[in-house]
Amino acid sequence: MAVRGEFVVLGFAVLLVGGVGAMAVQARQQGAARSATATPLAQHRDARDAQRPAAAVSAPPRDFVVTANRTLLELDGVPVRAIALPAPARDAEEVRRTLAARGGGTYIGEMLAQEDSMLVRWPDRTLTALRVWVQPHADVPGWSDGYPQVVRDVFPEWSVAGFPIRFLHVLDSATADLHIRFTRSLPGLQIGLTNRFRDEHGWIVAAEIILATGDQSGKPLPAGLISAIARHEVGHALGLGHASDPAMLMFPESRTTTITATDRATLHLLYSLPPGTVR
Ligand SMILES: [Zn+2]
Repeated sequence: MAVRGEFVVLGFAVLLVGGVGAMAVQARQQGAARSATATPLAQHRDARDAQRPAAAVSAPPRDFVVTANRTLLELDGVPVRAIALPAPARDAEEVRRTLAARGGGTYIGEMLAQEDSMLVRWPDRTLTALRVWVQPHADVPGWSDGYPQVVRDVFPEWSVAGFPIRFLHVLDSATADLHIRFTRSLPGLQIGLTNRFRDEHGWIVAAEIILATGDQSGKPLPAGLISAIARHEVGHALGLGHASDPAMLMFPESRTTTITATDRATLHLLYSLPPGTVR
C-alpha cells in the first residue's frame, strides 16, 4: 500500500511511543502509576539506526491513577476526575478460564507481564458514546487540514474488533473523554505518546494522545505515517499494551501500518474481561 511505499522510500521505521513527557498533563497528584520506560529502547534504537532519517520508539502508555471525586489532574485545562465508577463484577476463576481458553491467539499475556498483571479498559460505552476530540488545527510546519480526519478514520478500523464502545467525535474539548492533539515534534525519538487516566479498579476515565507531525529535527512526517502513529496510539488509549511480534501494529517499533487480526482479537478479549489485576 502507499503508506508502506513511503516507508521504504524514506527509510522510516514506524516506531511509536507512549508517554515520556506528559506534556499537557499537569500532574499535581501524588501518584503517577508508573513512569515510562522509553529511554533504554530509545538509546538502543539510536545506536543501531543512527543513519535513519527518522526513528522513534515506543514506551508503553503511561497510566495515572485518579481518585474518585477528587480533581487531581487537568487535561487541556479540564479537570480529570473519576466518576466513582463501581468496581467491576469479577470472578477471578472465570477470568483465568477465559484467558486460558482465548488468550492463545492474542498478546494479552504479554500485556499482563508489562502492566504488572493489570488490565485497564474503558467501561462499556454503548449507550453513552465515548467522546473523542481531535484538535482541528495546530500551528506546526507542514500542517495539513486533512490530518484530523486521518486520525478520526482510525476509529472505525479498530471498531471492527467488536467491543462495547461507540465513539462520538466532538468539537468541544471540554466535553471529551479522549483528547488527541498534534505537536511539532516530541522529545528524543518519540513521534506519538499516550497518557491514560484510570481509577483504582482499572477503568480508564480519560486519555490523551499527542501526535508529532514532524521528526525530532522538525521535518514534517508523511500523512501516512501520522495515520499509522494514530492507529497505534489509539490502541494504547483503548487499553492495549505492546506486542513482542514485529508483525503486530502494537509492536513498539511498528513495522506494519495496519491493524492485524491479532491486534483486534487482543482488544476484543480485553473487553470481554473486567479490568483489574489478574493473578
Ligand atoms: Zn506504543
